[in-house]
Amino acid sequence: MSDTVEYRVGIGARRTHHFDLEARFPTGGRSTIDLLLPVWTPGSYLIREYERHVTELRCHAEDGRELPVRKVEKARWRVTTGGARTVVCSYRVYAHEVTVRTSHLDDTHAYWNGATLFLYVEHLRGAPASITVSDLPAGWRITTALAADPESPARLRAADHDELVDSPVEIGDHPLLEFEAAGRPHTIALWGRATFDRDRLVTDVRAIIETQARLFGGLPYDRYTFLLHFVPGGYGGLEHRLCASVLTSPTNFADDKKYGDFLELVSHEFFHLWNGKRIRPAALGPFDYQAECHTRSLWVVEGWTSYYDRLLLRRSGRIDAARFRDKLGEDLTRLHRIPGRRHQSLEESSWDAWIKLYRPDENNVNSTVSYYLKGGVVAMLLDLEIRRRTTGARSLDDALRALWQDFSRGGAGYADEALQRVVEAATGLDLEDFFARAVRGRDDLEVEGPLASVGLALKRTSGIEASDREGAWLGASTRGDGGRLRVTEALDGSPAQLGGLSPGDELLAWDGFRLDDDGLRDRLRGGHAGDRVHLTVFRRDQLTDVEVVLARRPSDRIEVVPLPDAPEAARVAYAAWLDDDWKA
Ligand SMILES: [Zn+2]
Repeated sequence: MSDTVEYRVGIGARRTHHFDLEARFPTGGRSTIDLLLPVWTPGSYLIREYERHVTELRCHAEDGRELPVRKVEKARWRVTTGGARTVVCSYRVYAHEVTVRTSHLDDTHAYWNGATLFLYVEHLRGAPASITVSDLPAGWRITTALAADPESPARLRAADHDELVDSPVEIGDHPLLEFEAAGRPHTIALWGRATFDRDRLVTDVRAIIETQARLFGGLPYDRYTFLLHFVPGGYGGLEHRLCASVLTSPTNFADDKKYGDFLELVSHEFFHLWNGKRIRPAALGPFDYQAECHTRSLWVVEGWTSYYDRLLLRRSGRIDAARFRDKLGEDLTRLHRIPGRRHQSLEESSWDAWIKLYRPDENNVNSTVSYYLKGGVVAMLLDLEIRRRTTGARSLDDALRALWQDFSRGGAGYADEALQRVVEAATGLDLEDFFARAVRGRDDLEVEGPLASVGLALKRTSGIEASDREGAWLGASTRGDGGRLRVTEALDGSPAQLGGLSPGDELLAWDGFRLDDDGLRDRLRGGHAGDRVHLTVFRRDQLTDVEVVLARRPSDRIEVVPLPDAPEAARVAYAAWLDDDWKA
């Protein structure tokens, strides 16, 4: 087949962490062709410049004749074909970064994301690709959503370049957990050391899959694969159409709460197979792999997914309603500790993901709000608004199913402006006010009223810990740094900021007494609003005095508790929402 792109992926250089690649591109008679490598990978909105790991790029014709190639942009190489019908390109890619969105090769496994490895040619993006893995050690297997040749399992096929990029591959001697859920086969590949109850994991993941399948009326695939990586302290997930990569810490299995959070992550990535991959903003597929793809709707892609990952964990019985309320309280607390929530709308946060959320700096806390965090809260408020105004006849589930109906079939994405209309049509409600305030606006969200409609209330206290109600507030975040105590953030309007304390300052003394992290906490516990304190700091190399006036700790620790004497209608709404009886 003349218009198939053929790749060979050698994994022999495991000690030096180099993938050895060969790619064969039909030229179609062109005098030059441009080889490109994606500069980012879908689902992770940061320009990562994968091309920086490419070395030893060479091109030749099929008869062995070397072809001139030179770089003309940061991730674009131009080959003069000299009449060759096929350009054969060999190169190496350094891969030694263990995350869900990069590639990693060592003695224990090979894991890749297609964006990091596979050069492509624009006119061949729609052409099928074949991938042959070579230098496989004995006993190693390949696990991927890509189709494998039944005769030769080291030969994989992708329908086009997008599928190649969207299908990470795990190669090694990893164990597999294989099971059926909702009538379809599923596989979990496990890399890294972890001791846990595998039957329990399968039971829980199956429950997640079946609950989500019920919401959407079935599963839109023949088989699905989870690539599960265990790394101490690791955390992350990346969604794909037919699989997900999930990175977690092996210690999370020993603790029920952490295990619940891990299941939430699995539920999150799985939910994306609908929301994000098949129901998606127009900017998110087909992708421009060479530049940022901006959309105002990441609050839907990630916020709705953040809401549903937990709600569906509740519906599947994996967590109880009390845990759901506790986690909601934690989210509201985090949101209310971010001054930036008043400076950026959800649409703005979505659009600027590439330069804000994915590139956090010392001022993010004052300038930015996460579309995951606020988006999840807004998804819940939208759900409660729909439930209240339709007396429980409709919910956000109906909007999701409408999006699924409208935008999944033809494969086209939705325009950012279309979303509100679809939700309105699915629920029969005018939601202009809601979207203007919660989605396009920057004001604080009204949470009390909506929660009262389901028999819940907010309890606000001060203090980082529940036991920590007293004391004064400085409003600076600090980090211990090799025995030094450094200011990392000064919150907008806080005593720290008003007094002129800056990120980067090294805190030395409090009214002349030496400070360390514990010392600062103790001083604040013993302090009072209005206390005037002399802080001695190093600012760069200059010894400097800063005077701050301490304030009262804001009551920004939020718990979600039952509303005293909640009316019957609210109790009924609560039961319908969280699938549990309302209890005082
Ligand atoms: Zn996500």
